[in-house]
Amino acid sequence: METHLIYYHSPETALNETQILDYGTDDNGFFIIPQESCYFPGGGGQESDTAEITIGNTTSPIIKGTFNANSLKIYIDRQEIEDNAIITLRIDPIKRAVNSQLHTAGHLITSIIYEELKLNLTPINGSHYPSNSAIEFDTANTVQNITIEAINSILDTLILQKLPIHSKVVSTSSSDYKDSFRISHFTPKADTSIRLVKIGKYLNYACGGTHVADTAELQGIRVLKVNTKKNILKVKYGF
Ligand SMILES: [Zn+2]
Repeated sequence: METHLIYYHSPETALNETQILDYGTDDNGFFIIPQESCYFPGGGGQESDTAEITIGNTTSPIIKGTFNANSLKIYIDRQEIEDNAIITLRIDPIKRAVNSQLHTAGHLITSIIYEELKLNLTPINGSHYPSNSAIEFDTANTVQNITIEAINSILDTLILQKLPIHSKVVSTSSSDYKDSFRISHFTPKADTSIRLVKIGKYLNYACGGTHVADTAELQGIRVLKVNTKKNILKVKYGF
């Protein structure tokens, strides 16, 4: 039972009608598994969508979503489900748009530091939450001469270049995946499928989140602060 994730290829879709593949109750409460979903449940440093679900005449907020293999479990208040029920999922499109901008910007700034400035740093973490957008690198005791201005100057150029963002799902045994960018502690299970996201010519990232269509949509995003503490270089960014 696999949920088709509409937000992988169509992140601007804010509403979809679909069938229910299954429903039930587990330790987290009552859930339904939709056949298709525009709703993103959060993960990979990106916050979840704010969303609601309509089943019959009842509309209720989505409490949370989790993946069980490739099935998306959406938790809601318990309700009666009729056979062959059609449901509607609806997300907050403004919040989604901001989260997509911040997520793409996190990848792009990582690529600027790693691939353009070619600093010998290991990326270890990324948070793309509106309240705290930052990427972190392990400096391995090296002193880094990195300035906000140097990053922002390249960022401005790349925004003007309107670089496209593409994604595809590949096998973890493929060369596309083996050559992709890795956050150091991330290891997927062998021989499964994984989604890669690529900005312009930069390295693919393994990523399950939502992104803008091209870098022109990142207009207004800046690196705000750079500091190093206990071998961790932290780059904060936002609007
Ligand atoms: Zn990502």
